Amino acid sequence: MSNLNFKLLKKDGNARAGVLVINNKEVLTPTFMPVATKGALKSTPHELLDKTSVLLANTYHLYLRPGAETINELGGLHKFMNWDRVILTDSGGFQGWSLPTKKVSDGIQFKNVYDGSKFLMTPEISIKTQNLLGSDIAMIFDYVVDIDAEDHLQNEAIDTTQEWAKIARETHNNNQQALFGIIQGGLVKKLREKSALSMINLDFDGYALGGLALGESRQERKDIVKFTSSFLPIDKPRYVMGLGDTLGLVDLIAEGIDMFDCVWPARLARHGKLITGNTYINIKNKKFSSDSEPIYKSCPCFTCKNYSKGFLKHLLNNEKTSAWLYLTIHNLIQTEIMLDEARQSILESDFENFKKRYINE
Ligand SMILES: [Zn+2]
Repeated sequence: MSNLNFKLLKKDGNARAGVLVINNKEVLTPTFMPVATKGALKSTPHELLDKTSVLLANTYHLYLRPGAETINELGGLHKFMNWDRVILTDSGGFQGWSLPTKKVSDGIQFKNVYDGSKFLMTPEISIKTQNLLGSDIAMIFDYVVDIDAEDHLQNEAIDTTQEWAKIARETHNNNQQALFGIIQGGLVKKLREKSALSMINLDFDGYALGGLALGESRQERKDIVKFTSSFLPIDKPRYVMGLGDTLGLVDLIAEGIDMFDCVWPARLARHGKLITGNTYINIKNKKFSSDSEPIYKSCPCFTCKNYSKGFLKHLLNNEKTSAWLYLTIHNLIQTEIMLDEARQSILESDFENFKKRYINE
């Protein structure tokens, strides 16, 4: 049994506000988890994310470099990356879809991104790796297919994920670490239902909806998330993997999702696109060259407190690495602020007004 405790505090429509506690660390939900794939955010020290409760790190990458044993010898992932708040590790299942791979009977044959050599990731290896890393929340190793894959392939993804979920359950051996199941099934309702029900049978600490944000329309995503969520136990956290754009977040908070992760706000920042409340500015725009104002006046982030748009635009043109750092902090803090606002509005039964501020329709 894990020591994860999730309390649903309030519902407003389908939207949920809750508190997740694990290893004496508290996470207010809904929550957004920035992606520290290799133990660090790209170009940005995570210590600057004072509003973030959970970071996501990646099993596939840490398994290859520096290796879970090395991290374990160095005191575990929290100590290794100097982050004492919650860490969730994803299992490597998504890399099975995003990288060139071959599915074999007991796992996925990968090509090492660093040296081209072949290696096999199995559900056992993924879980043992996560046990050793010592993240607070581990994910089962799942099998992901294209969102529009034919039904028989979606079915194969569900059956394989289910079989691997059982192995994950049997292998998992770390009572300081929660384990989440992952529901597959693309956009096909009967397949999502089948996957949700069989995953729930294995009684995980939380449930993720996988295989989304892979090219489906907004409406398709909303519909399938709403449908699938109706099968999930209300007292367990719900997580949609790989989604982090403003509209997408608001849409799925509205459908009762509690946890999100995505590289999107950080990647957007590196391209100079900056979140300003419910809209964006592009710092590359000429007019900002002589702008002495911060990116967004009401933003409490380190960047907005200290730098003008004129300076940040200059940096992005001439000192990219520093620009990426300042711009990434801003977008991640704006995302966290939006989720705080969402949570507050749910607690005050005012979610509809929150939604109207972010979605004009
Ligand atoms: Zn800011």
